[in-house]
Amino acid sequence: MEEIASEVHACNKCPLWKGRRNAVPGEGDIDTSIVFVGEAPGHWEDVKGSPFVGAAGKILNTLMTKIGLSRNHVFITSVVKCRPPENRAPNPNEIKTCTGLYLDRQIALIKPKIIVTLGSYSTVYILSKTELESETVKGITQLRGRAYQTNFLDLPVSVIPMYHPAAVLHNPKYRDALEKDFELLKTRFAKLRLPGLQ
Ligand code: URA
Ligand code: SF4
Repeated sequence: MEEIASEVHACNKCPLWKGRRNAVPGEGDIDTSIVFVGEAPGHWEDVKGSPFVGAAGKILNTLMTKIGLSRNHVFITSVVKCRPPENRAPNPNEIKTCTGLYLDRQIALIKPKIIVTLGSYSTVYILSKTELESETVKGITQLRGRAYQTNFLDLPVSVIPMYHPAAVLHNPKYRDALEKDFELLKTRFAKLRLPGLQ
């Protein structure tokens, strides 16, 4: 994982490298059963080089704490590792390049039992590489609210799609759905009898 991180820090394989202050490879426990995949670093992530350290990160921390999960017990990363200009969405080429080089290898290394996809970009990316590919024609609103037992990179995994925590910043109506989805994560986690929940 450290090797992947150093490659990310030196990467210039897609145009996003030009605008970054710091690349954000991801952080957390590599022996974990749960990987969170966000979309892309934002302003504070770019400044600090760590994932989810801005306003969306605060919401994520609150939701995790509520179900007794600590950031040290999971691995958190995103689809692309460098901040897109003006926080625009990553484009298909950037996603293809970055995930092929890094995210897939990070997941293959960790072999999580659960992948929580935050927002539509990570949800579509992950599900499109499973046998549930046809589900990705639906939006995050239709996809969230359940766990999908499937295979990613030939590994059995539960994918739990959720709204991106930043969505709550724009519209508080998403908070209830996110809280419900974290409860679902907790149930799923307990069912798998995985270590880490307090
Ligand atoms: N949004 C993301 O998707 N990732 C971060 O690290 C921060 C905000
Ligand atoms: Fe490399 Fe990914 Fe950054 Fe693009 S976004 S420069 S592929 S690390």
